[in-house]
Amino acid sequence: MTHTLLIRAGLVYTGDREIESGWVLTRDGLIAEVGSGDAPPADDVIGAPNCVAVPGLVNAHDHMYQWATRGYAPDGTLFEWLRALYPVWARLDAEIVRAAARAAMSRLLLCGCTLSTDHHYVFPRGREGIFEALVDTARELGLRFHPCRGSMSLGESKGGLPPDSVVEEEDSILADTEAMIKRFHDPSPGSMCRVVVAPCSPFSVTPELMRDSAALARRHGVRLHTHLAETMDEERFCIERFNRRPFELMEDLGWTGDDVWYAHGIHLNDTEVDRIAEANTGIAHCPSSNMRLGAGICRVEDLVHAGARVGLGVDGSASNEDANLAVEVHQALYLARTRAAVLGRADAPTALDARGAWRLATAGGAQCLGRDDCGTLEVGKCADVALFRVDDLAHSGVADLLAGLALAPPARAEAVVVNGKVVVRDGRLLTADEDEVAREIAAASRSISRA
Ligand SMILES: [Zn+2]
Repeated sequence: MTHTLLIRAGLVYTGDREIESGWVLTRDGLIAEVGSGDAPPADDVIGAPNCVAVPGLVNAHDHMYQWATRGYAPDGTLFEWLRALYPVWARLDAEIVRAAARAAMSRLLLCGCTLSTDHHYVFPRGREGIFEALVDTARELGLRFHPCRGSMSLGESKGGLPPDSVVEEEDSILADTEAMIKRFHDPSPGSMCRVVVAPCSPFSVTPELMRDSAALARRHGVRLHTHLAETMDEERFCIERFNRRPFELMEDLGWTGDDVWYAHGIHLNDTEVDRIAEANTGIAHCPSSNMRLGAGICRVEDLVHAGARVGLGVDGSASNEDANLAVEVHQALYLARTRAAVLGRADAPTALDARGAWRLATAGGAQCLGRDDCGTLEVGKCADVALFRVDDLAHSGVADLLAGLALAPPARAEAVVVNGKVVVRDGRLLTADEDEVAREIAAASRSISRA
């Protein structure tokens, strides 16, 4: 049976146009019409003249299990932070991952995110059902989901960073990855679940696993994701061990192309920026995490100008402590301008504008994730919409609404629609009890912290 939903807003931002007193009509999970003024009837209506409607936000990098380990090593570098956390993560099981994913996804949805990836790479030996818990939770909460079957295989005893207790055998990584693709990957348009192949980083897997993972992904037509050029420690590691810069290593291993996106991409030289753009490879910029770990500043403006796909990510909440993509829009905008100012540019405030920043969080993220059916409010695209209030104390009276929502990021969304279904209404999550999710994550955080 056909189901229609009419979303009315004071301003509709399609990703391209801004329509005052606009509306979006959805039919069976897709956008059927966009207009202004008189609207057609529908089975259900969201009437929000006090809101701005934007394309549902896309989270291009995350580690949802980390919701159970927030606030550790608050002043460490990436490698110090990882060394402090690996032994804690070694205690992960499906139950903790489920509680963490419920928290992470609830928070993402409540803040206007409708499509998210999750890069899960910790699979302690003998703990079954972790990947399945992530997929189940996304279905339960109504989030469009691209789970990454991540991996670590290069333990300390072989010169890697993680302790041997958290790494897996490469044969079983590849076999399990293939099993998860066969079980959960849905390549069809409008898909609610697509699996990604994602070895963790150059310092936690072997070059052989990177190569084999790329071959596996390409055999099945699924996308590839990994961390790259996040810190100078990583660059030193790659030069010492492989005599290659991180991106050069990726080129050697077949890890470039339009089916690949990297998290971070901070320490890139001019040639590398151009080569990433030429290859149509994506970068998930995670400004809060990069600032939290003092990792550096992504060259967002240069990457965008070069024509690379650039999206935004909240990154794992152990290095962000939150999952609010509107805050990342704000951080990306401020950080791009700060970088330009530090480089001595007089026009630093033009390095990234509000509309450009919203584009990163919507269409840019969708491009990283390979979704030409998401990221804008256009007829025929997935009906994924976020609405933010502009009559609250923080925004009431702001002259330029889209700029206002980037400069003063909203604490939460007023309504969120995923696949034509209302998931958040009146600022409340309809698919889970937020207070219960908070109690569950407190218990899971206590249980994983026990010595
Ligand atoms: Zn990450």
